[in-house]
Order: sequence, then structure tokens, then C-alpha cells
Amino acid sequence: MKQNAERTADQLGITKIQRVLVVDDDVASRKLMRKTLMREGFEVIEAENGEQALAAFDEQRPDLVLLDVEMPVMDGFTACMKLRQRKDADHLPVLMVTGLEDMDSVNRAYDAGATDFIAKPINWPILGHRIRYMLRSSETLVDLAYTVQELHSNRARLTNAQRIAKLGSWEIDTETLLMTWSEEVYRLFGIESDNRTASLSELLSMIHEEDREQVRHWFSLALKTGDANDINHRISNPNGNVRNVYQQVEAIVDQDGKVTQLHGTIQDITERQKFEDKIRELAYFDSLTGLPNRDSFKMHVDQSIKAADRQKYKLAALFLDLDDFKRINDTFGHTFGDMLLKSVAERLQDCLRANDFISHVETAAFTGIAARFGGDEFAILLTNMHRSEDAAIVAQRILDSFTHSLTLSGHEVVITPTIGIATYPADGDSTEILLRNADTAMYSAKRIGKNNYQFYNNSMNANARLRLTIENQLRKALERNELQMNYQPQLEVKGNRFVAIEALVRWHNEELGNVPPSDFIPVAEESGLIIPIGEWILRTACTQLKAWHDTGVAIERVAVNISVRQFMHPDFLALVKDILDTTGLDPEAVELEITESLLMADVESAIQILHELKKLGVLLAIDDFGTGYSSLSYLKRFPIDRLKIDQSFIFDITTNVEDAAITKAVIAMAKSMDIRVIAEGVETIEQLNYLTEKNCEEVQGYYLGRPMPAHEISALMASHKVSRQDKE
Ligand code: C2E
Ligand code: MG
Ligand code: MG
Repeated sequence: MKQNAERTADQLGITKIQRVLVVDDDVASRKLMRKTLMREGFEVIEAENGEQALAAFDEQRPDLVLLDVEMPVMDGFTACMKLRQRKDADHLPVLMVTGLEDMDSVNRAYDAGATDFIAKPINWPILGHRIRYMLRSSETLVDLAYTVQELHSNRARLTNAQRIAKLGSWEIDTETLLMTWSEEVYRLFGIESDNRTASLSELLSMIHEEDREQVRHWFSLALKTGDANDINHRISNPNGNVRNVYQQVEAIVDQDGKVTQLHGTIQDITERQKFEDKIRELAYFDSLTGLPNRDSFKMHVDQSIKAADRQKYKLAALFLDLDDFKRINDTFGHTFGDMLLKSVAERLQDCLRANDFISHVETAAFTGIAARFGGDEFAILLTNMHRSEDAAIVAQRILDSFTHSLTLSGHEVVITPTIGIATYPADGDSTEILLRNADTAMYSAKRIGKNNYQFYNNSMNANARLRLTIENQLRKALERNELQMNYQPQLEVKGNRFVAIEALVRWHNEELGNVPPSDFIPVAEESGLIIPIGEWILRTACTQLKAWHDTGVAIERVAVNISVRQFMHPDFLALVKDILDTTGLDPEAVELEITESLLMADVESAIQILHELKKLGVLLAIDDFGTGYSSLSYLKRFPIDRLKIDQSFIFDITTNVEDAAITKAVIAMAKSMDIRVIAEGVETIEQLNYLTEKNCEEVQGYYLGRPMPAHEISALMASHKVSRQDKE
């Protein structure tokens, strides 16, 4: 029988054979049903009455019961009721077979727990379908029940997992701003859940005061755009407990792309963070001094090298070793040695903190990091440096800070450091090389006699000292009246007369003697001192020319050199105007000399400033022309009056074909553009004759007159009418 059913089931493509229990006291009915159902692929078992049906259910677990109503021993209703009480039978499909139009039976059948009823006489062809349909829905029902059950246990598991992970979840409606919080969120905030609805404002009230604005912003961004990254912030419990949390958010978007809901998680990461901090501390910091250790120092150098490349500044690595530290350790013991190292660390940090003393006008002060490499070895990284000399300033400051003795647990000790300096990029283009070279420099400093600093690059040592002295002395140059203006005459070739002068600054310093402008002008530029010094130069030169004009000395104009920093300074225009106003000098009597390379550094800004200056009426000249790679097309855009051919071309002009060619070309080009030309560095009559022949309009150089003090210029003008023959 069973085999039969299996075969039919196979033929029908039904994989699992389902078992139907047919309960009827009428043998003929049972046989008919069996035949019909077997044809449909079911396995059939039979019972004569209610009692037998219950036993058959217990033993054979049918998938469905077909139950007649009227039977001896136990009727269908009772049997159905009893079945329903059986364990595992609550989803069992029970089909009651009732009399036609018998509403009372139908009602009772449902009351007894029947799934459905079928009225007699039975419509045989549809019985199979009916049963199969019932089975299918019961399976769905069972599945559903299982799903619900699983959901319950999943939720319990989730809640559990969330509690263990200290991870809460929330949802927020973007319209109402009402929120649902998981149990863990309540636990995190330290408040009762009470089955109520929470809100965004309630959540925000739980955020640590200092982080609240940031979190509010984060929420509003997420609510508006659905876009938000994760966020770390603090919350404070009603009991004053502060915790660190990590929140993530995901937006639920409707068909129109509108954000309707946000789903988020909030996790308590206080412990984890403490742990991570501890690990980081162990990995990257020296436990004795709390300074970064060698590894983290190297990481800093790596990063700083990248930043320095991008932002075009310099770095310095200082390697520092304490002199005779071993002796102190041996004399006073290790505990004392440790205390000493700690106080050294503090001194170093103090030296770096006080770096504002190095700040220059407009020059951003650099920053420094101190590290301990182990033992009595320390290192310092200076970033954002514009000049290698800044490293010398820091090194000197460290040496100075160690001249005071230290009193530690009753002992007074003097300890001195020796420092090696390597700069980036000059002394090495990688962290490894830089540190190695700083180390090498430190050893050569030790050899020289400890308690000093040395640069890796030897010339830097002399250079650094000289430049530092120049800078220090230059600071006082103006107030000490150490600056003086000299003037060099400029000859107009055609009229053979001096028409103008170039103002050239001179500096005599007590310690340094006469310092040439080529040595101190760059230092003045880098330190920002060029601003006050440049103003003094322009004012002095203009005042002098005005004085000459007033006394009838025939000098048409004065040419004054202007450096980049002055030219780009936002107050420069106002300064020029002020000087013109206060001296009462005709603007055309002032010519500003600007080097070609200055103009090429930032062409657009330069053009704009040149035009502004032109509006004031002053003349503009390009100094050292031919050295700065400006192309003709640029020249056209500069509103200039004069070109000064650089002296390097004049030097060999009579012997070097190339120099001669360039000079000729510049003269021709300038003429075509209606720009006047002056040649500087004219030292010989041959040079002068050559330039005259090539129609150079003006000349300047030792042959015609050296730069000289003002009173000599007046004398020259009074006595001298340049005679070419005189010179020959
Ligand atoms: P520069 O503006 O090209 O000045 C010409 C330089 O050539 C001057 O040097 C001058 O003394 C020198 N010189 C003049 N005739 C001859 C000659 O026949 N042969 C040779 N070999 N040299 C000659 P100085 O005064 O030493 O100035 C050097 C540079 O320093 C100047 O070059 C200029 O760039 C800068 N400088 C000088 N004075 C000032 C100033 O007052 N302000 C600014 N910002 N820079 C200045
Ligand atoms: Mg000049
Ligand atoms: Mg020049």
C-alpha cells in the first residue's frame, strides 16, 4: 500500500509523501476516500471512531485528518477537541465532514478547532485539491510559527550580544524626531526604559556638554542628507559617569530618495579606548619620561618629511647626548639618574615651548617635538623651518638652559648636553639618513669638546653662526644708526651727463665691520627686518634727492632697490605714497628697481602691484635683467620704464660673442617696446664705447663713478661734467 502511494507520489512529482488519517465509521465511505486520496498521491491510514483516531494520531502522526462528525464511541467534535489538546497538534489541519447545509455542525466544527469543513455528499474530484491546499497553508503556518519563534530567540540573542558588546541600536523618524532605543541604549544612558518613546532631544541631553554641538550637527546632517560618517564622542550619565561612545548611522530612503528614517548603533568604547591608549603608550612612549620613543619619533620624521615636501619648508633633526651621564649614574645611583633624565626631558620641552622668541615678522614660528631614544640619548625634530639657522637657535637655547645647575633630592649637579644637527633636505632625504647624520654630527661635537652643537654639514656651522650674528646685529642696526646710503651715478650717453643715481645701502657694524649688502640683505629678507630697513632706505633716498633738488643739484631721479618681501607687503603702496607726500618729491623722480626673478615668482600678483605703483606716477625698472628667464611675452605685460642689463653680460661684452649678442638683442628689443635701457657694471672705456656704439642709452659702473656718500655726489655734480676724453 505504502509502495503504491510512493509510486503515485513520484509520478505526481511530490517529493514528500503526506499521510492522511481518514476517520469514519462507515466502511464504504472510508474505502472511497482511501481510493481517491491514494490516487492523488497521499498515504492513507484509517480509524473507525474518535478514540481510534486519537490513538492513530499518537502512533502515526498524520499530516492531516479527515474527520466524520457522527461516529459511535467518540464523535468527531470531541475527537477534534481532544486532538487539538495534543502536543504538536495545534497546527494540524483537521477537515470535518459535515452534513449538507448543516450550519449547526459547521459552527460546532469550528468551535471544536477544525481547520475547515467539507459537506456531504463529497465532491470527489476536488477532495484531493482541497486537502493539498490545506496542507500547504498549514506548512506556511508552521513555517510562520517557527519564524516567529526564531525571531524571538534571535532578538533575545541580539539583546544579549548587544549587552555583551555594549552596543545599542536606535531608530529615528526624520519627521517627528521620535526615537526607538534598544535596551542597551537605556542601559548606556543609565535610565529606565519604561516602554516609552524616546526623542532626539532626550538623546542629545545625554551627550557630554562639550561634545553636544558636534553630535547635534552630526544628526542634523544625517537627517538632512542621509550622509554621515561615524562619530566618537562622550556621554554623561545622570549619575555623572562619563563614557566614550562610537556611533554609526544608516539612512532609510524612500522611492523619491527622501530620508525617512535613520538606523544607528551606539557603542560604549570606554574600556576599549583605555586599553588602546595603554597599548599606544607602551608602544610609542618612553615610560620614564613620557616622551615619544625612538619608533614614534621616526614616524614623526617620516610624516614631517612628506609635509615638508608639500609645503616647502625645512626640517632639522637634533641628536642630543648628555655629557658624562655615566659618571652621575655611578656616583648617585640609578634612581637619581632616572630623576635626572626626567628633568632633562622637562627642560627640553620647555625649550621647545618657548619657541615664540624666534618668531619673525610674518614668519610662522616652527614647531618641535622632543623624544627619548633610550639611556641618555634624546632627539628633537623641528618642523616648519624656513632657515637652517633656526636649528642653531634652538640648540643654543638648549645649551643655555643647561648652564644652571639642577638640585635633585639634595644633590646639586651640573649636566651638559652635546648636540648634533642634520637638516632636511640638505643633509639627507630620508628619516634613516637624517638621523644617522645627526648622530654623526653629535659625535664630531663630542670630539670638539662636548657641551656644544655641530651641524652635520661643516660649512653650516660657520654659516649658521655668522648668519645668526648678522641677524642679531641687524636688529639693532637702525636704532644704532649703523646704516648709511651711498649713491652711484648713472650717465646718459647721448648728453654725456649724469642724470640719475642708484641708492645702495651700506652697513658698518662694530663687531662685524663693513658687511656687504649681498650678505645682509638676504638675512634681512628672511628675518622680516627688510620691512623697517627698506622703509628707512626709501625714505632716506627720497629725502636726499629732495634736498638736492632744493639746493639746485641737477639730479633727475633716484633709483631705489626694492626686495621681494617689501614689494609683496600689503602696506607697500601706502608707504610709497606716504614717502612721496611727506618729501614732496615728484613721483617721476623715483625709480623702483625690482629684480626680474622677483617678478617671475608670482607674475599675476606682480603685474597688479606694478600697475598700482604706476598709478602713483613712479618709474619702474627691472634690475639684473637677463638672469631671471623672463620671456618677451611677460615683458610686454609689465608696465616698466627701464631695463637694467645685468653686469654679468657687460663684464665680457667686448670679448664674448654671446654676451655681446644678448646685450644687442636686449637693446633692440627694449627700443621696439619703448623701454629705456641702462647697462650696469661698466668698468672700462672699451665697454662704454661698445655700449655707445650699440645705442645703449644709459650706463652705470665703476668707470663712471663708484657708489659714494651723498656729499661726494654733490661735489661730483658741482665740479664734474663728464668728459669722455678725461677718462681715455
Ligand atoms: P644691484 O642693485 O644690482 O646693485 C649693483 C651692484 O653692483 C652694487 O653692489 C654696486 O656697488 C655694484 N657695482 C656698481 N658698479 C659696478 C662695477 O662697475 N663693477 C662691479 N663689479 N660692481 C659694480 P652692492 O652695493 O654691493 O649691492 C649689491 C646688491 O645688493 C645690489 O645689486 C642689490 O641687489 C642689493 N642692494 C644694495 N643696496 C640695496 C638697498 O638699498 N636695498 C635693497 N633691497 N637691496 C640693495
Ligand atoms: Mg639695483
Ligand atoms: Mg643689478
